[in-house]
Amino acid sequence: MTPIQSEQKKPGIRKERASKARPHATPIYQTSVYDYPDLESLDDFYEGRMPGSFLYSRNGLPNSKELGELVAGYEETDGGLVCSSGMGAITIAILSSLKAGDRIAASSDLYGGTTSLLKDELPRFQIYTSFADSTSPEEVERAVHNGAKMIMVETISNPTMRVCDIQEIAEIAHRHHSTLLVDNTFATPFILKPVRLGADVVMHSGTKYLGGHDDLTIGLLCGASDWIARAGQFCTRSGVIAGPFDCWLAARSLLTWELRVRQSSLNALKLARYLESRKDRISNVYYPGLDSHPQHGIAKRIFPDGLYGGMLSFDLKDGAPGASRFVRALETITLTPSLGGVHTAVSHPGKTSHRNLSREEKNRIGITDAMIRVSVGIENYDSIEQEFTKALVLS
Ligand SMILES: *Cc1c(COP(=O)(O)O)cnc(C)c1O
Repeated sequence: MTPIQSEQKKPGIRKERASKARPHATPIYQTSVYDYPDLESLDDFYEGRMPGSFLYSRNGLPNSKELGELVAGYEETDGGLVCSSGMGAITIAILSSLKAGDRIAASSDLYGGTTSLLKDELPRFQIYTSFADSTSPEEVERAVHNGAKMIMVETISNPTMRVCDIQEIAEIAHRHHSTLLVDNTFATPFILKPVRLGADVVMHSGTKYLGGHDDLTIGLLCGASDWIARAGQFCTRSGVIAGPFDCWLAARSLLTWELRVRQSSLNALKLARYLESRKDRISNVYYPGLDSHPQHGIAKRIFPDGLYGGMLSFDLKDGAPGASRFVRALETITLTPSLGGVHTAVSHPGKTSHRNLSREEKNRIGITDAMIRVSVGIENYDSIEQEFTKALVLS
């Protein structure tokens, strides 16, 4: 028999961490489970006597906890929960707090994925949704009147950039003992903090501005700690969690979140004004920072810093063929059906996010075949305008 080696030298067994000094940047805790020295410490963990400890990844992991706390800080809520994607976060929000027979009142121009979930999946569980124009408080009131337990709206809607009066909707929600969930993906807390206006829960697709580099998929819920604790329990039980690396990437992206949103908002306002001046080629520009936007007054009041976000849309005068030629004429700006990245990108709502809507539904929301949506990036503004000008000439 070979002599027994000291524990330290046994291949494959690590006793020491790489560094005893505190790392400046948070390490990626790429582990699915944690070791416990004895049975008593397991009792300590389960009885809550070991705060800050972890056991198994689905129950919580350090990078996810850090990210949730950081985003909750920006949104000024006590609790924050990270989910596998924006849709994961919406699913958790609904299924952790509603039951069969409960109703939802939702904006009629929510993100396409959210609308599909509400319309095509949840009715199988007897959760039904009434849709309303969220810019009309009377319509929202009517939709809530049938006893809706939750109201869902977006701060800035896609793709026509409508802005609803969150304060007024929060009042309606609370009069009816309903929870107001605001999808703050397009605006981010640097434009608007929905809880300051009375929202109960704030949701983010962290895949967009929060991540900001088109390289991760994540979702977040921010709200009161008891509501978040219940949502977190359901997240663990259903397994809609995000892995350590995406959480780490997202937390790293938070370091520049505000700078990116500020720069893309400033660029977007300039680009919106430029496109509006091109009446020769463009019939409509949709951007809440423009005087011509139907809810500019509301936006000015509830977006206190004069920033209106980095998303805009416009209609080309020469219809679907014009849109096709315009996209082809772009050189460095890509056709990319997502948003919130550092690079300016365009998409075509009619062919992507709203592809499954009927012509009538598209007409009702105001989506044309000539509509281009722009996620304005953080590049030098002049280079963006030059490329748009050139594409208008070539198309
Ligand atoms: C992308 C998006 C979602 C869904 O988020 P995923 O991370 O893609 O699941 C929800 N709401 C809005 C406004 C979005 O833009």
